[in-house]
Amino acid sequence: MSIAWCEAEIYGAFASSPGQSDKPPKHTITVRYEFVRQVWRDAEHLCEFLRSIPEGHGYDKLYDFWGDRTKLPSCFNKKEHVRNMFVAAITWVYFHELGHLMQEHGIIRDEFGPRGDKAKKTTEVHDCEVTQGKLINGREALVSHVTELAADFEATNFYVIELIRHCLNPDFADDHERPEVFSGLLYLMVCGLSLVFFRFNGNKPILPIAAVEGSHPNPLTRLELLIPQIFEKLDLDIFRTAAGYALDRKQLVLLCTKAAFSATLYWSVTHTENHEFDTRFLLHGIMSRPATLQYLQPIVVIWDEMLPKIRAVRRFGSPRGLMYFTDTARSRIKSVITWGSGPEASATATAPSPLDAATS
Ligand SMILES: [Zn+2]
Repeated sequence: MSIAWCEAEIYGAFASSPGQSDKPPKHTITVRYEFVRQVWRDAEHLCEFLRSIPEGHGYDKLYDFWGDRTKLPSCFNKKEHVRNMFVAAITWVYFHELGHLMQEHGIIRDEFGPRGDKAKKTTEVHDCEVTQGKLINGREALVSHVTELAADFEATNFYVIELIRHCLNPDFADDHERPEVFSGLLYLMVCGLSLVFFRFNGNKPILPIAAVEGSHPNPLTRLELLIPQIFEKLDLDIFRTAAGYALDRKQLVLLCTKAAFSATLYWSVTHTENHEFDTRFLLHGIMSRPATLQYLQPIVVIWDEMLPKIRAVRRFGSPRGLMYFTDTARSRIKSVITWGSGPEASATATAPSPLDAATS
């Protein structure tokens, strides 16, 4: 596999493959300079913003929900906050592209996508492009969305494993420092990941829709799916023992949601017209969003259809990198009541709330 750089001033990256499963893979990940530049600036600005919140200010008090007003981990200095956030964000995007290539999504899109006149050979999968103007719908959109979610899942699996791998390295942190460094890194990783999706999302608040439209799922819906995947995976005792952290499930949820909240607060205050905190940008978790659950209905069906083919063409990687839906998630998605009389009816949009667990 090779990595290429592209000078076009577009925020994004893409994966390309000739898509021939009977020949050795020839994979390329192309990263745009503009994307890297913007991620660095966003990380810098987020850190500056968080540091500039005056003690006792309304925004400062919002952190009482998490029982601690610390907004950036004290085990790192200013430069390290930005660097870790930046590297984490571009690493996740790299892993996402790798996920497309590992699962040969070009082949999958050709096989499961539209047939006949609309069919075209797919050799490139573009991502995060804010300016992408192509509007697709129907079967093409559905196949595109599900492969995006599958690449997200594969990327996030790598993301967590890399965090654990870092913490296992004795040169990285000693036994005494490790728990704090782990928490700090995880926090900055979630901040970085959130920034990528807020930038991709732009200045519109979350508006979950059930329809499958366009080439990519709603960026903030993707984030709502990914964050629980991170804390659910880290809640496995095998990782807890190996990486030397003692955070229980609740603490992991609080740490990850606090990091996502910091990015949400920053984004809504600095990138919206009114320049104030806007609760419509808050992540709630997909289980409290009937429209998102409805959106996932055809996603689950087509994923079940294409998974055997993905298994057949995927040449390497842990089976844990393949997206799955638990029975609980399937049943909630299948039985969602969209007219307001189901459990979703009590969902409110007023206060920061930990994301739902068990989404993937
Ligand atoms: Zn993608």
